[in-house]
Amino acid sequence: MQHIIEGFLNFQKDIFPQRKELFRSLASSQNPKALFISCSDSRLVPELVTQQEPGQLFVIRNAGNIVPSFGPEPGGVSATIEYAVVALGVSDIVICGHSNCGAMKAIAAAQNLEPMPAVQHWLRYSDAAKAVVDKKTWANETDKVNAMVEENVIAQLNNIKTHPSVAVGLRNKSIRLHGWVYDIESGVIRTLDRESNTFISLAENPGAYFE
Ligand SMILES: [Zn+2]
Repeated sequence: MQHIIEGFLNFQKDIFPQRKELFRSLASSQNPKALFISCSDSRLVPELVTQQEPGQLFVIRNAGNIVPSFGPEPGGVSATIEYAVVALGVSDIVICGHSNCGAMKAIAAAQNLEPMPAVQHWLRYSDAAKAVVDKKTWANETDKVNAMVEENVIAQLNNIKTHPSVAVGLRNKSIRLHGWVYDIESGVIRTLDRESNTFISLAENPGAYFE
């Protein structure tokens, strides 16, 4: 914990004074253009990989970058999406999975999650992805996990479309959805392309989006 506190002290002493104007401009309002939904994994830092400043990304992070489909008892993820779309008026929503995802590995390996009942329950929101992946045979576990990561992004993009605020935004073309997979080792991001329905290099296809 000490290094975290030291980090803050460093921020307060050295970083904050340099960025004083930015923080002053953000003190009473925010106007992020994008909602970024990613895994809580410590190795994926949305602001770092997209080089965004404070105030630019509205972020939801949870185990497995999961978006429960909308229902009669909406939870925290649903409320946060609604706030981003209705109150902040974001124009883009990115759902970003990543390589070597612990949540997706657990699903791919059909790991016993009884000691973690909340995780077990939470990962049921990936059932559509699991069903797709289980229909195929995989040469090895890594291929299966990679497929699970991709199919999970697709499943969560489908889930988010059930949210009323998102459905309205898609219908009137004020919102665009993006499905990304970030590779930890190479730093590469692949994006789901609506034309081919496959993940392609974001660097080579910066204009690609899902819907
Ligand atoms: Zn993860």
